[in-house]
Amino acid sequence: MAGKSDKLMVDGKRVDGRDPSDLRNVRMQVGVLHDADGSAFIEWGKNKVLCGVYGPRECIPRHQANPYKSLIKCRYTMSPFSSAEEHGRSGPNRRSTEISKVIREVFDNLIITESFPKTEIDIYMEVLQADGGTRTSSITAASLALANAGIPMRDMVAAVAAGKANNTLMIDLGKEEDNHGQSDMALAISHRKKELLLVQMDGMLTRDELEKLLIMAEQSANKIHEMQAASLKNVYENPEESFKL
Ligand code: ADP
Repeated sequence: MAGKSDKLMVDGKRVDGRDPSDLRNVRMQVGVLHDADGSAFIEWGKNKVLCGVYGPRECIPRHQANPYKSLIKCRYTMSPFSSAEEHGRSGPNRRSTEISKVIREVFDNLIITESFPKTEIDIYMEVLQADGGTRTSSITAASLALANAGIPMRDMVAAVAAGKANNTLMIDLGKEEDNHGQSDMALAISHRKKELLLVQMDGMLTRDELEKLLIMAEQSANKIHEMQAASLKNVYENPEESFKL
């Protein structure tokens, strides 16, 4: 592991030529699905994630309905062709169940669920192509799809990974950096309040490194938020661009 980590920085540049604080190229498109109440597609480096939101709608089965708030249901899945690697089945598994759960908790804290008692809100995220950072791409896309569905939220959220490889602190780790680096931390940060709605960390960091990474992540989350705001604005200003991926 240390051997591979050594090769992740060459002459101050990362494997894909980025500086430590650079994001991969990100492209977002809102309103891409005809029948969903809200939707978004995100290309983040080589990651491609499609997100569809339905609701608030009647909660099925009814016994799950909460008389005080809407039930948030999240499903994160990787398509069978999303990665060339043999990581096992692409269908529901422990990893996708865990990611769906932590994403649900992000949005349970953001959506004003009390406004829609007895209903459910469904957030589906399909990873079409995976290259490290699919949970952060999915959260960023879901925030857009929820806004597109007109579902009231306390805040928007942008997610990004921060970590360490080859003894260098960096933002938005790609698959090689994620798999062979020293530490990788997925973060979801609300825009106005700067609340940390998700923190999942692999590996070790010192307190000082953690503090530096949180600052770097906040700066990156601000950049992602600007892109989110622009893509939301775009779908209403240029509706002819809807339903295109
Ligand atoms: P994330 O995609 O949120 O960074 P992980 O850290 O679990 O999640 O995975 C890093 C990368 O490893 C993924 O983006 C994907 O490219 C690859 N990977 C992980 N699990 C699988 C899987 N079950 N099938 C195919 N590829 C996977």
